[in-house]
Amino acid sequence: MKIAFIGLGNMGGPMALNLHKAGHTLSAFDLSADACRKFAAEGLPIANSAAATVDGAEVVISMLPASAHVDGLYFGSGEQAGLLEKIPAGTLVIDSSTIAAATSRKVAEAAAKRGIAVIDAPVSGGTGGAIAGTLTFMVGGEEADLERARPVLEKMGANIFHAGAAGAGQTAKICNNMLLGILMIGTSEALALGVANGLDPKVLSEIMRRSSGGNWALEKYNPMPGVMETSPASKNYAGGFGTDLMLKDLGLSQENAAAVRASTPLGGLARSLYAAHSLAGHGAQDFSSVIKLLQTKAN
Ligand code: NAD
Repeated sequence: MKIAFIGLGNMGGPMALNLHKAGHTLSAFDLSADACRKFAAEGLPIANSAAATVDGAEVVISMLPASAHVDGLYFGSGEQAGLLEKIPAGTLVIDSSTIAAATSRKVAEAAAKRGIAVIDAPVSGGTGGAIAGTLTFMVGGEEADLERARPVLEKMGANIFHAGAAGAGQTAKICNNMLLGILMIGTSEALALGVANGLDPKVLSEIMRRSSGGNWALEKYNPMPGVMETSPASKNYAGGFGTDLMLKDLGLSQENAAAVRASTPLGGLARSLYAAHSLAGHGAQDFSSVIKLLQTKAN
């Protein structure tokens, strides 16, 4: 299958590579020349522009940071024409970015008028899941379009859920990430407390992982440097899931909560803490670096 892949960041790059290794014919693009160079060196065919990737593509996949990037890509911005004008009718578009459900619905509705099918398919599983091809996809859109996408999604993920109509994948994703944002702060707070009392963070992490405090952050993404070799904490919080991306997701969940009049007090507090952490200059670091806000000076 010929696949256009746009957005080769921490997630998109490894996802595109998995499709390439599975034997699909890829044409990939990122606005960052560094990202293009990095994945070209790993064998990914790189096009000169997003528009050039869609020539002859049966499936178009985008993996961009936020709503504004997805809006700009599909509807155009400034001099740049929107990709929807270039994509032939009959093509399937899979947008895996985490964005506002309203933006997903806007893209899906405009595309449908041109005979292009769109599903929103945000992911969970982190950069480790993207590399291993074990992501969880949360899909919004028509069931038939999900079935068309399934063989492609299966090369990048291990779990595929149909959350509902267009935008529903995004709603599921912001519920999940609100919980993840809260869990990472709670986990960091508990670890910082233990360490301030002289406990070994490796031992405390193992105790809590196997006790009632066990959660994904302790299993896969320990925020304390040196506890888990593979976590961003042990790589000076480089790569992974940026604090500013978590802040964006918590903003989306709070906006949504206001719209449907849901009560999300911990989501609101978590958003304020990540905002303070970002303002302190840590926006580009992995979100688990939020532990720095909670560590005593002795740590
Ligand atoms: P990233 O910032 O590492 O990568 C995004 C890439 O998109 C960048 O390389 C950027 O240059 C590129 N880009 C932006 N606009 C573009 C355009 N118009 N055309 C081409 N390229 C463009 O972000 P990421 O960590 O890969 O995350 C991507 C999305 O996935 C975000 O919505 C994020 O919230 C979500 N997500 C991330 C993780 C994670 O662990 N990093 C996990 C799940 C979901």
